[in-house]
Amino acid sequence: MKLVPDYFGCYVFDDKVMRERLSEETYNLLKRTIKDGRSLNLSVANTVANAMKDWAVELGATHFTHWFQPMTGITAEKHDSFISPDKDGGVIMEFSGKELIKGESDASSFPSGGLRATFEARGYTAWDATSYAFIKDGVLCIPTVFCSFSGDALDKKTPLLRSMEALNRQVMRVLKLFGNEDVTSVKTTVGPEQEYFLIDKDMFLQRKDLIYTGRTLFGAKPPKGQELEDHYFGVIKPRVQAFMNELNEQLWKLGVLAKTEHNETAPAQHELAPIFTTTNIAADHNQLMMETMQKLAKKHNLVCLLHEKPFEGVNGSGKHNNWSISTNTGVNLFEPGETPYENAQFLLFLCSVLKAVDDYQDLLRVSVASAGNDHRLGANEAPPAVVSMFLGTELTEILEAIEKDEPYGVKEQELLRVGVHTLPKFPKDTTDRNRTSPFAFTGNKFEFRMLGSSASISGSNTVINTAVAEVLKQFADELESAPDFEKALHALIKRVITEHKRIIFNGNGYDDTWLAEAEKRGLLNLKTTPDALPYFISEKSIALFTTHKVYTERELRSHYNILTRSYCNLVGIEAKTMVDMTKKDILPAVSEYSQVVGNTILTKRSVSEALNCAYETTMLASISALTASAFASVRALEKALEKASKIEGVDQLAVHYRDEILPTMSKLRGAVDELETIVSAKYWPMPTYGDLLFGV
Ligand code: ADP
Ligand code: MG
Repeated sequence: MKLVPDYFGCYVFDDKVMRERLSEETYNLLKRTIKDGRSLNLSVANTVANAMKDWAVELGATHFTHWFQPMTGITAEKHDSFISPDKDGGVIMEFSGKELIKGESDASSFPSGGLRATFEARGYTAWDATSYAFIKDGVLCIPTVFCSFSGDALDKKTPLLRSMEALNRQVMRVLKLFGNEDVTSVKTTVGPEQEYFLIDKDMFLQRKDLIYTGRTLFGAKPPKGQELEDHYFGVIKPRVQAFMNELNEQLWKLGVLAKTEHNETAPAQHELAPIFTTTNIAADHNQLMMETMQKLAKKHNLVCLLHEKPFEGVNGSGKHNNWSISTNTGVNLFEPGETPYENAQFLLFLCSVLKAVDDYQDLLRVSVASAGNDHRLGANEAPPAVVSMFLGTELTEILEAIEKDEPYGVKEQELLRVGVHTLPKFPKDTTDRNRTSPFAFTGNKFEFRMLGSSASISGSNTVINTAVAEVLKQFADELESAPDFEKALHALIKRVITEHKRIIFNGNGYDDTWLAEAEKRGLLNLKTTPDALPYFISEKSIALFTTHKVYTERELRSHYNILTRSYCNLVGIEAKTMVDMTKKDILPAVSEYSQVVGNTILTKRSVSEALNCAYETTMLASISALTASAFASVRALEKALEKASKIEGVDQLAVHYRDEILPTMSKLRGAVDELETIVSAKYWPMPTYGDLLFGV
């Protein structure tokens, strides 16, 4: 049997392989360009490309692709084979430096939100050398960014990389203020916990809603849901375990640090968490994880649902984004320190996140906004649409003591002075681990819990990085010019606590009283995607992103367009699927069944007028009333869709989908779900919730 350490990363052109396959000189040149973020010189690129090709071919690869993350939220690839004709009519395997570092790509079929003029349909992809190349299904994949020919970002990764640079610049300024000389760069790290559902493939194929939209648009509640809470951390079923084992193996071969797997709260729901890594790599790995899950599930005759809310009435799926900043010397900046000085630095970084989350609540909300996630946020299972921050009682008390110039702790009589006093050690595993908070400090990192399961983590991390960079910039500006650093630092921290403590909430985020309280505190409650997205192109947002060179205004507007359009498209597809299913499958089946019931009444009556048909007549009346209601809703939905096709502005269109189409869909579903509860199982045209959720 092969042991994991023997095959971990065997499909990755990682540092070890580079050392083995490149000359010392080439290796050092490559490493230096990666570190400095400069572009690779062509002769080095040629050598690297050749080594990469030899390695890939030995492992059975025949093709290569630039692998990128367009605005669709999933990855894109276009395979080219290595073959090249030789003089004798045969072929040789070739891969040039030019092909490695830059690829031309017809960008016209990717969403550009108006960025790309039609006369300039080309885009290009460029190697992100900080993320290793790897082999997937016999194809050498080169992680790349994707831009239009005028240099605008057409993907999710370019802004993410820019935001990491922006944060690095500002953190370095702050670290200098603390006299830090040995750190030369910092990067953000992320560990995204991925939730998903597994259902039987044969059943999946019988549901158009799952096929077209990834979620059930109809479905009455089964007698058993998640109320017994017997699934969470429960024993994993053999079929699921077989899937998980193979999933781990494939991911490990791709160098993904798959670590923790378990059953989640809802039946058929599971989670996989990797060990954290540098954010852009974590983003790539999360995409690989989602892709591998979906591909592999099919092999096990299962389907992996990554939709945020595949089933009504049971929990949806999220993706917890654990985020931190770490220095090139290996220090986590959110690790509370040992000495007063380290503590002061910790507190300042903590306060930078506190202020960033408060100042940019809107953008954090935007970063998780999607049609699918709207069904989750604010429901009784995921953090509310209101952004707040959990610090835990202990840390909150420390901040309060600083704010009010009060002594902290029973024994300490002295006032807590930043930079002078050591903070008390707070245990990392505080008992009050709060799972309802959208943005929780969990000992040495922050956990942003609002992301939906299908989301790319790039968007949220771009916002977090840039928001924190902006706050640190303000801090550095202030502290750099202060005559007395320690005094200024204390005053700054005190002020930030006073001004931004409204964002701290340690209570139950699922509680309705919190929403009322949040409103009193003036926190935003952007309930739906059309409420949230316009904040992406607000003056404040444009100022933030352009200052830090993360997005240009043009890019912001284009990405806003893409996101809004995508919301409309998704809801539109759902509505059309409902119309189709109701007209072609559900109503005909119901009609057939009511004929049977009607015939029973006729037969009974023909035998004797005295026979009581109470059951049949009541059923028939209910069926007929519900059928009429469903039919009316279908008509209304068709009309609303017709109207949508005439709305020009993307903003009005999104509002139309939210205010007209979604409520009509809900009404239709209500009638159909009730029909499901009274129509004979034999006639119901698709697998039920019970079948789907307990069928594996
Ligand atoms: P849980 O939150 O489920 O109790 P953990 O706290 O152990 O689990 O970790 C959750 C995720 O957070 C894991 O993916 C882990 O790798 C990640 N994580 C831990 N430390 C950091 C860090 N410094 N930066 C980013 N992610 C981290
Ligand atoms: Mg967690």
